[in-house]
Amino acid sequence: MMTPRVFNFAAGPAVLPLPVLEEAQRDLVSMPGVGMSILEMSHRGKFFEGVLAKTEADIRKLASVPDDYKVLFLQGGASLQFSMVPLNFLPRDGSADYVVTGAWSQKAVKEAKKVGGVKIAWTGEAANFNTVPAQGDLKLDPNAAYAAFTSNETIHGVEFKYVPETGSVPLVCDTSSDMFSRPLDVKKHALIYAGAQKNIGPAGIALVIVKDGWLKTRVDDPRLPTMLNYAIHADNTSMYNTPPVFAIYIMGLVMKWLLSIGGLEGIHAINQRKAAKLYAEIDRSGFYKGHSAKECRSLMNVTFRLPSEELEALFAKDAKAVGLDGLKGHRSVGGMRASIYNAFPEDGVDALIEFMQEFERANG
Ligand SMILES: *Cc1c(COP(=O)(O)O)cnc(C)c1O
Repeated sequence: MMTPRVFNFAAGPAVLPLPVLEEAQRDLVSMPGVGMSILEMSHRGKFFEGVLAKTEADIRKLASVPDDYKVLFLQGGASLQFSMVPLNFLPRDGSADYVVTGAWSQKAVKEAKKVGGVKIAWTGEAANFNTVPAQGDLKLDPNAAYAAFTSNETIHGVEFKYVPETGSVPLVCDTSSDMFSRPLDVKKHALIYAGAQKNIGPAGIALVIVKDGWLKTRVDDPRLPTMLNYAIHADNTSMYNTPPVFAIYIMGLVMKWLLSIGGLEGIHAINQRKAAKLYAEIDRSGFYKGHSAKECRSLMNVTFRLPSEELEALFAKDAKAVGLDGLKGHRSVGGMRASIYNAFPEDGVDALIEFMQEFERANG
């Protein structure tokens, strides 16, 4: 008998839609009409080429990706994008603007500094990253090679509710933990990247959407390793070398699922409803305290504290015992983090709220 599935609040790798897991399981040993597993077939064969093309087409449909943008499937996670972006677009004697809203943007800054100049357009470090800047708070350099921001900080639980305006400076966004959780205006960006394992697929793949025109302005450094060159991947439709075939296949199933439930508008409505319930419970009594400022609360990663670290440890332990898994927060914020990504079921949020009320009655 299969162990019953728990409610998985993990930050990533995270919960995947059940219909995706079930279809992958059904077809794992023998793909219908092919007679072998997706894990075993050539990436140059007709079947996999079809999987890749359909996944890309569904991504384009889902996010209305304009024709002059490339969609790339790359390895190395979002973390390699921290390096690839500056290696391709930051001249050694140039500088780029970075908006620092949490642990992930700090990591992006660290890698960019190895390549060229970095100017911090804003940082929320003094308040332990509990908010994001307003447009007017950003100190932007009109000569920057690009400006980079993180639309959702997975660890701290703060999320931009607008796309920063950077004039003629190309905008780069790390959207690893809120990709395809709400409508996305691709046109406002020069490059968007996301590690898949939070919201759009399994670990082992990063999705990159990059504007053609910007690709043409790449720093032309002959020492740049081939595999780190966006243009190579674009020219070879992500097939310069063997792509992560299984991860692309699963991502394709996730895209199909997203389209089937109403696309980005549909999932956004569900995500707003789930997050609103949970934040309302956090705000209800004062026993729980949200980490982030109300106006930039993440729809994906809900961070909150309890009155003491002892109670926080007990909360995580008792919650796990009743099938609410992965609620312990990151050590840099402490407390709890409920990651309620696209695929996280609404009845799991209801179960958490019920547990929070019982826990408060017993320990408040
Ligand atoms: C998880 C995460 C990353 C790192 O992703 P990897 O795929 O593990 O490299 C980067 N940025 C954000 C916002 C993330 O949530």
